[in-house]
Amino acid sequence: MPRVFNFSPGPAMLPESVVHQAHAEFLDWHGTGMSVMELPHRGDDFKHIAMSAETALREVLAIPDNYHVLFMPGGSHAQYAALPLNLLQGKSKAAYVSVGHWACSALDEAEKYVEVVSLPDKDPATWALDDSVAYCHYVDNETVDGFEYSVTPSVPDGVTLVADMSSNLLSRPVDISQFGVIYACAQKNLGIAGITVVIIREDLVKTPHPMTPGILSYQQFLSKASMPNTPPTYPWYMLGLVCDWIKSQGGLLEMDRMAKTRSHELYAFIDANEDYINTIDPVWRSRMNVIFTLKQAQLTVPFLEEAAAIGLKNLKGHRVIGGIRASMYNAMPIEGTEALVAFMRSFVPCHVTG
Ligand SMILES: *Cc1c(COP(=O)(O)O)cnc(C)c1O
Repeated sequence: MPRVFNFSPGPAMLPESVVHQAHAEFLDWHGTGMSVMELPHRGDDFKHIAMSAETALREVLAIPDNYHVLFMPGGSHAQYAALPLNLLQGKSKAAYVSVGHWACSALDEAEKYVEVVSLPDKDPATWALDDSVAYCHYVDNETVDGFEYSVTPSVPDGVTLVADMSSNLLSRPVDISQFGVIYACAQKNLGIAGITVVIIREDLVKTPHPMTPGILSYQQFLSKASMPNTPPTYPWYMLGLVCDWIKSQGGLLEMDRMAKTRSHELYAFIDANEDYINTIDPVWRSRMNVIFTLKQAQLTVPFLEEAAAIGLKNLKGHRVIGGIRASMYNAMPIEGTEALVAFMRSFVPCHVTG
């Protein structure tokens, strides 16, 4: 079976050379006679893997020295609880954007711990914020809804900006200094499922709420070098390989250029073709997840089946909104987008009925 173009929203396609490298090192990592999966996490070999991954991530993202990088389990969902438990610091309110699938999930979880000030419009120009809120949470790329912020929202002094970048971290340069916390699970652009990166300004790591489970305490992860317990060692290793791959490709400017090339090609085709519909305002369109519907909705199932048959896999839209979603993260070659557009061009004319 040849490798296919995998348009899955996550776990997602990995760079082919990364898969080959993991394969080559699978049975014997660097002459140890052991797989990475068999290395003890407190041993020097794994410590080397963990530190190299952090170094590569810091380099690729240009993370300033006054930010810590924590590697945590539990996916982005764990962060939905960790944020209020760690960041409130005596305040009782936090602001949450309440439009978008993942923004709402984060808000729903946070409500268990904090009085939520809801921001019902995704446009930062409408946000009325002051320092009565401990922080302001938004999702930089809404993976399900297909919209993305093209500029970092500006918030008043004294308000800590917190971003879920699960589906677009490492796809473009980010000015980290504008944020208090950025977090991202790994299974979109960073590697494989099981590990979550938390980038946090050093002054924000404080004693959390006393009821905080230790496994969600930023302070504990910082003092234990992200190993208060056995970490997800293999995902940590894969994250390092992916960061090395990004460096070898020319870094985040190149990732951004590729993402724009792919997504512009697909949006341009959709806009010029009346059989396909995307309703996202062009200034908000995601470079990562292109969502669309077929004008003839009854063709959605045949579309997915025929695309899969020629190696264009996992194009089904999210279960809550249906339609089609083409997720094109860093590892998607431009040839994948071209193959999809070519398929879309011929698909509808082949199904003219009556
Ligand atoms: C995938 C995704 C999540 C969910 O991540 P889990 O690791 O499954 O908890 C959250 N936020 C965004 C923006 C995502 O794309």
